Amino acid sequence: MRCAPVGNHRLKLAFLGTGAAFSLDRYNGAVVVDGRLLLDGGAPLLPHMSRVGVDAGAIEAVFLTHFHGDHTLGLPPFVLHRVFVDPRPITFLGPQGIEERLEALWEISWGPDWQKVMRPRFNVRYEVAKPVGKVAGYKYETVKLDHGTSGSNGYRIWVEGKILAYSGDTEPTAPLDALVEGADIAIVEATGPGDVFSHMSWEDATALKKRHPKTRFMFNHVYNGTVDGAVADFQVIEV
Ligand SMILES: [Zn+2]
Ligand SMILES: [Zn+2]
Repeated sequence: MRCAPVGNHRLKLAFLGTGAAFSLDRYNGAVVVDGRLLLDGGAPLLPHMSRVGVDAGAIEAVFLTHFHGDHTLGLPPFVLHRVFVDPRPITFLGPQGIEERLEALWEISWGPDWQKVMRPRFNVRYEVAKPVGKVAGYKYETVKLDHGTSGSNGYRIWVEGKILAYSGDTEPTAPLDALVEGADIAIVEATGPGDVFSHMSWEDATALKKRHPKTRFMFNHVYNGTVDGAVADFQVIEV
């Protein structure tokens, strides 16, 4: 692999899953950025990271958009890897209640041994996402998006001078335009054609892309089939 010239850093995006919650032909969503950041954790993370050449121990921060199962249920085995195999520090960033919600998920996954054996060895920090903040050396902004009752956090993350926008789940409302405005890359959900309750349709995703012609869009969270601009499971893209 050739090194990128200085000042022209290419971002490496590894899509571990690109499906919606109950897709039959795609895995639940998860994206690795430059081998260091994980955006949501739906897919079976460890085997999928291994398959695309990502070191599971090198993930420094996990951005969670919300706590729905298709965005979080790949995490418990990954966490065990970070307890027993590679105990480097890791930060989980997400909506209000992140520590309680995730600790409950680890406890329900691993039973009483979580508190007794695993938790003391887990080198973790939990952070409620701020409007503007920094995690693992990356500046980010949080944009509150409309998704069901609890909503979802969209993130704008600065990586080597580029702005990466990531929606997680959202309806096609005004905050989504604010999320992608001026971004170099936007990973945005596009669940399906027509009426998709509390999500974004292919038509709305295509219209969003047209409104922001300078941004490179990648559509994920696809329920079935595919739409122009959609990414695929195990796809690794350098941009
Ligand atoms: Zn979802
Ligand atoms: Zn959701």
